Amino acid sequence: MTRVNTVTGPIAVEQLGFTSIHEHIGYGMPGSELDTRWWKTPEQRYEETIPKLRKFAEYGGQTFVDATGICNGRDIDYYQSISEKTGINIIAATGFVGGDTALKHFAEASVEYLAEQFIHELTVGIGRSGGKAGIIKVGVSRGFKMLPLDLRIYRAAARASLATGAPIITHLAVDAQSAIDVFDEEGLPLTRVLFGHADDGVSQGKVDEEGIVGAGGRIGFDTFGYDLELPDPPFWGRHRDERFQHLMRYLRSGQIDKVLVAADANCSPLGWPGVKGHTINYLFEQLIPDLKQDGVSDAVIDQLFVGNVVDFFSTTTPLEGE
Ligand SMILES: [Zn+2]
Repeated sequence: MTRVNTVTGPIAVEQLGFTSIHEHIGYGMPGSELDTRWWKTPEQRYEETIPKLRKFAEYGGQTFVDATGICNGRDIDYYQSISEKTGINIIAATGFVGGDTALKHFAEASVEYLAEQFIHELTVGIGRSGGKAGIIKVGVSRGFKMLPLDLRIYRAAARASLATGAPIITHLAVDAQSAIDVFDEEGLPLTRVLFGHADDGVSQGKVDEEGIVGAGGRIGFDTFGYDLELPDPPFWGRHRDERFQHLMRYLRSGQIDKVLVAADANCSPLGWPGVKGHTINYLFEQLIPDLKQDGVSDAVIDQLFVGNVVDFFSTTTPLEGE
């Protein structure tokens, strides 16, 4: 039986249920928590977050993967209390959103040090919270090209994945060959890697989807809801139907098993206003109705949000520990 670490303890993959693979409880750039303009009390953060997750649970959501990583506002004690209040499983990430969000201490560290940190967070715990990470986050810095620091983080992530069995999710799927080369050099099977944000507006034309899938990797349609139709869309937004048709091409081509879907929503933004009108519940309120209207069966929807997630976590050996 394969088990996955949630912030409140390990669970069997069969208990994951409906899972959104790439979300954020609270996300901001490192240091944003020190900006008084954006200061939030714990009560404000709860007020912004709890109703969204209760709604997610009411709709049938069971597991929330927090793709925030070490320096962008990750807070395990807080996640534990949110999980207890809402009944939602929260899986935390070790690693970094991208090299350009790693604080100096980590940015100057060796691959060995980084790998050791990730392994510690996956097997011993994150700080003194008692909670362990269940997944590893890596990413490409702004500019669509992997920087040397990004590559060091990818290499450390590969070693941590091999040592613990935890899968890897990426921020951005651009410059994928550089990532594939590092993973190959380290001997990491690509089935353990989800190349995320293949569906966002700014990445179009820059993602070698065939190369990723051909090498055994998985594709993340994980920015659902950042639609250009929103009143104030973000720069990475995309027309709703264009993104939807992109996903449908995968479903029709028989590559459903390669796809994972999420909203990349930010329950309580840190240091910025966030994107108004976008929450994790887009999955239930917009995407699933769109899929059904297009004739996608319940079995396929179930595969996208349950079966493929179980498969992603099951390509690994069980985590050590309890
Ligand atoms: Zn994200």
